[in-house]
Amino acid sequence: MQYTLHLTANDLEALHAHAESSLPFEAVALLFGEQSELSVTVNRIELTNNEATSRTTAFKVNPEEQYRLLVEAENRGEEFVGIFHSHPAPPHPSNRDKQNMKLNPVVWLIASKDSGHWITNAFLLENDHVRQVALQLM
Ligand SMILES: [Zn+2]
Repeated sequence: MQYTLHLTANDLEALHAHAESSLPFEAVALLFGEQSELSVTVNRIELTNNEATSRTTAFKVNPEEQYRLLVEAENRGEEFVGIFHSHPAPPHPSNRDKQNMKLNPVVWLIASKDSGHWITNAFLLENDHVRQVALQLM
């Protein structure tokens, strides 16, 4: 069975606009919603600042902001289900991303404008292997 991530077209558009306005740096956002065995549904996206020192090729969310968003999500009964970030390169996990995917076992969405327009791919790390997740727009 294919693991699927459900996202509204509006939210995807907002993520791409966030990526566009963050250029030439990587953009980052946290995704909250519901998780079941074979799918994730995103109910809310939180666009965050990229605080990495080399923001053109890396991203980092302020730990206090991330903590605040996690507490807020818990209060709303939502789960932390995904991390979005954009790449100056094709939309596939870098080696650094793969390391971070181990620490943050949620769906990773990676956007790229390499082909001329923004596209986003979703991935999950499973037994150390990167697996593509189907993206279903609502
Ligand atoms: Zn990356």
